[in-house]
Amino acid sequence: MLQILKSYFGYTRFRPLQEEIISCILEKRDTLVLMPTGGGKSICYQLPALMMEGTAVVVSPLISLMKDQVEALRANGIAARALNSSNNETENLNLRLECAQGRVKLLYVSPERLLAELGFLLRDIRISLFAIDEAHCISQWGHDFRPEYTQLKVLRQQFPQVPIVALTATADKITREDILRQLDMRNPQIFISSFDRPNLSLDVKRGYQQKDKIRAIVSFIRQHPGESGIIYCMSRSGTEKVAALLGEKGFSVGVYHAGLSNEQRERAQDDFINDRVQIVCATVAFGMGIDKSNVRWVIHYNLPKSIESFYQEIGRAGRDGLPGDTLLFYSFADIVMLSKFAAESKQQEINLEKLNRMQQYAESDICRRRILLNYFGGTMEHDCGNCDVCRNPPERFDGTVIVQKALSAIARADERVGTRTLIDILKGAVTAEVVEKGYDKLKTYGAGRDIPARDWQDYLLQMLNLGYFEVAYNESNHLKITEAGRNVLFGRARALLVVIRREDRAGKVAPRSRKKETAAPSVPVLTPAVFEDEDEQLFEKLRQLRRQLADQQAIPPYIVLSDKTLHALASRRPLTLDEFGEVGGIGEYKKKKYGKDFLEAIKAHMGR
Ligand code: ADP
Ligand code: ZN
Repeated sequence: MLQILKSYFGYTRFRPLQEEIISCILEKRDTLVLMPTGGGKSICYQLPALMMEGTAVVVSPLISLMKDQVEALRANGIAARALNSSNNETENLNLRLECAQGRVKLLYVSPERLLAELGFLLRDIRISLFAIDEAHCISQWGHDFRPEYTQLKVLRQQFPQVPIVALTATADKITREDILRQLDMRNPQIFISSFDRPNLSLDVKRGYQQKDKIRAIVSFIRQHPGESGIIYCMSRSGTEKVAALLGEKGFSVGVYHAGLSNEQRERAQDDFINDRVQIVCATVAFGMGIDKSNVRWVIHYNLPKSIESFYQEIGRAGRDGLPGDTLLFYSFADIVMLSKFAAESKQQEINLEKLNRMQQYAESDICRRRILLNYFGGTMEHDCGNCDVCRNPPERFDGTVIVQKALSAIARADERVGTRTLIDILKGAVTAEVVEKGYDKLKTYGAGRDIPARDWQDYLLQMLNLGYFEVAYNESNHLKITEAGRNVLFGRARALLVVIRREDRAGKVAPRSRKKETAAPSVPVLTPAVFEDEDEQLFEKLRQLRRQLADQQAIPPYIVLSDKTLHALASRRPLTLDEFGEVGGIGEYKKKKYGKDFLEAIKAHMGR
């Protein structure tokens, strides 16, 4: 396995879980893989595909995604193809023939196409495995529901012997269960990797007006000269306005939204992928089809509608593992707008709750990464040091007793209450529900009288964000105590809560934090450079060369070599082909194909 990893992909080590997942697939077991964007999901099925006999069929929701994946594989000398509607029929005919002859290792198809091709797949080719990419699309609980995906059920029936691996970067517990059920996976192995992306910095700014936002964005981009980034806006007009304002300041900016023609959108995406424009101002329509590994920053001009969307969108930065900076603006107006959308949507209750959690993230006083990770069901027990809260920490106190009171009340009410009823119980309020359900007989009834209801709201929000309980969206938003919560409840762990700052309440910025902000305008901290002694001028030259090579082949520069590989070259400065091949991300194929050109450039630069 390691040998194949090195010779095809140029990597010498597996990332966490990759090896286990690959072994599991090689044993022909059904497998569910949850990994954050950039975590390295693709290799989990690509490597088994190379090791197993026959063709791996990969279901992918978007043509652009398939194109990117296929290009990346072919750039490593791997026989990968895509069967889709952008090919003409002759092409598809030839492709079927190649598959039948066993000459294709990975075949990418859309879900619609998969169903249309079932006859061919069943009869004429030997299938090694099915990989269902972006598997959350199968669930209506997910945020990208695609009805076509639900028909993938037929796979298990029609191909009982072929292992199915489902992969996604975004799936909460409900979605996860839905994926397993809908694909009818048998005795599946489930792998959940840490959702942490420590290379992404997190920053939230609230209550900025348009002018302030633009000023902040301009100074942010100036700290990232020439580096690719995405600015997400809520509306189409928003994208155009922001793009125009940045254009006036001399930045190279594209626009992407659903109101443009297909051609315009494709061009915008293409210009960005190929480093012809630096910045894209886009609605959320942009990005799912993008695997560009050298996006260095993502800004949210408005609040996203859910934490899933947010995490997926910022996840597009720093896929190569190098630092990525993210910045989120949010305002009261965003909340009003998004609440309206959610209330008018089909799954009103879920969407409102998801928005609620997003808002809580933005308002939080605790390490933002902890919130994100707890939301995705992981736990993180330390602060990250790479978010604005960590850099400007709030004041805390031992809140164990407060937390215990709340959790005890939840437990005594059989975990069948939402926050409002919980606060009624804690405050000893007499409401119809309290009386009817007999909550006034509970031992914890009135145990939290001394704390005002609005403070309870705040503490519960903190507890939720600290991961002490979860909200069950599918059960009337009832609160469920987590393992971390039980530890506090039973006195095995202490809970630190944040002192509530009254002045924050009225929507005004606390004078304390404002002062800090003006004193030290927040500079995104970059994780210290990983490349020792890097020659920056050489990096620029190599970047030019990469650009030329990419243009000649009409593929994106990051597919030729990633930013990370380029930095490594500029730091190690190999002088022989073997040294070149040792650099991370350079497999046998790329070594032969690009070695000479890059070695020449390095030697010329060093005067050898
Ligand atoms: P995902 O599909 O999970 O978003 P990818 O599969 O695109 O992530 O991988 C993200 C990046 O990490 C890619 O550039 C990929 O080549 C790289 N990568 C994957 N596995 C490894 C590894 N074992 N060592 C180094 N880099 C890796
Ligand atoms: Zn933090």
